[in-house]
Amino acid sequence: MSTPPPPRALPSPPPEEEGTARPPLSGGPEGPTALRPLLTTVLDALHDGAAARRGPLPAGGPAAVAARVRETVGTGIPPHGTSPDEALHTLVHLLAEGAADPAEPLCAAHLHCPPLALATAADLAVSALNPSLDSWDQAPAASALEALVTTALAAEVYPQARTADAVVTTGGTESNQLALLLAREHHGTVQLVCGENAHHSLHRAAWLLGLPEPVTVPAPAGTLNPTALADTLTRLHGRPLLVAATAGTTDAGLIDPISAIADLCDAHGARLHIDAAYGGGLLFSDRHRTRLDGLDRAHSVTLDLHKLGWQPVAAGLLAVRDRRNLDALAHRADYLNADDDTEAGLPDLLGRSLRTTRRADILKIAVTLRALGRTGLGALVDQVCAAAHAFADLIDAHPGFELYATPTISTVLFRPTGADDAALARVRRDLLTEGRAVLGRARLDGRLWLKATLLNPHTRPGDLAGLLKLVEGNTAR
Ligand SMILES: *Cc1c(COP(=O)(O)O)cnc(C)c1O
Repeated sequence: MSTPPPPRALPSPPPEEEGTARPPLSGGPEGPTALRPLLTTVLDALHDGAAARRGPLPAGGPAAVAARVRETVGTGIPPHGTSPDEALHTLVHLLAEGAADPAEPLCAAHLHCPPLALATAADLAVSALNPSLDSWDQAPAASALEALVTTALAAEVYPQARTADAVVTTGGTESNQLALLLAREHHGTVQLVCGENAHHSLHRAAWLLGLPEPVTVPAPAGTLNPTALADTLTRLHGRPLLVAATAGTTDAGLIDPISAIADLCDAHGARLHIDAAYGGGLLFSDRHRTRLDGLDRAHSVTLDLHKLGWQPVAAGLLAVRDRRNLDALAHRADYLNADDDTEAGLPDLLGRSLRTTRRADILKIAVTLRALGRTGLGALVDQVCAAAHAFADLIDAHPGFELYATPTISTVLFRPTGADDAALARVRRDLLTEGRAVLGRARLDGRLWLKATLLNPHTRPGDLAGLLKLVEGNTAR
């Protein structure tokens, strides 16, 4: 009779070596405990940095800012670290002191919005948990949330279409690129037709996708001219065409005549994409949403909630009327969406983006929609539109200034009466280098204009009167 062999002893784990690195992680039940003191450091540095800046952007211009950064950071990678607290405090302070901060009323150049505190707080949770939306097993709840919220946002664009869907992007540029790609996949090839006023990212997308040079239609009043579009579509008739219209131009906030353009697309069998990166936010406002009438006639629509949506970057979307359009993005990678996993019920996420690893930008959007509701977001939209009107009235009433036009959304273009383009460009740069105001510039009607893009719901008439005084003072020099 043989005795059974003694159970094999498990090898004991090697003793932990002296100095094993175990930096605290952000996830798990202990994550918040590690994060809390670090966040205090970050918040203090944000506060102190903003206070040290004393204005909408750092004074001194690029050389002064670069010198301060170089002095603080040094060059190359340091051989030895300092400490989490020191590194966080130093660099967050540096960034805040050197920021062009859209929460400052006089930081109003671009479609660069001040994020809502609650959206930023939600984004912190995304960083802590780090879900990745390329497979269900990296983002179980985040992917379910994304599916619901993208459907809800698609229904906002396409209230009548039960087949509508939306995918999350890094912004208007990626959304426009995807729209062009989907049109190309639909037709095999496609000729892009867009207004002179269209966003530059459409031209880049055509170049990137190897498509023919876009055909540009005149936009003499800042919006795509339907008569000129009709001529172009007649000339190109028979070719697969994608017309891209703009709802909210970057330069002037103008909205192309959507219904007239949709009629022409129908008549010529052209697909229609609407770039509503800026104007899409009007959907939330009962007062302003009728300006987007006809939006749902587009095959695809670009939205950008890091503009009129008060989200930290990135928060882009591409909505499509028919979700089957997105089939073109289907893609297989055995480790992410094996056929048998998909058949067994694991959601296939890889076809919802051209990216692989993908951040859960949907959480901040979902939190914002839940906390504010459509009414709350709509009220913010109404407020910034009203601020733009108030600013336009101030300019109109001022003999020293010329107003380009009554604002359509929240962009106001103006120029000091009699100033030439070079003087106007100089005023803008002077205000930047002095750290006093961030204004944009736009060329319309063959002339240069100063541009204020009002996206800050805290901006008061007094701020805008102050801005006008600053410009006036700098023009006189
Ligand atoms: C801002 C903008 C874009 C580009 O969006 P990003 O988020 O910067 O990529 C595209 N189209 C229009 C009309 C825009 O205003």
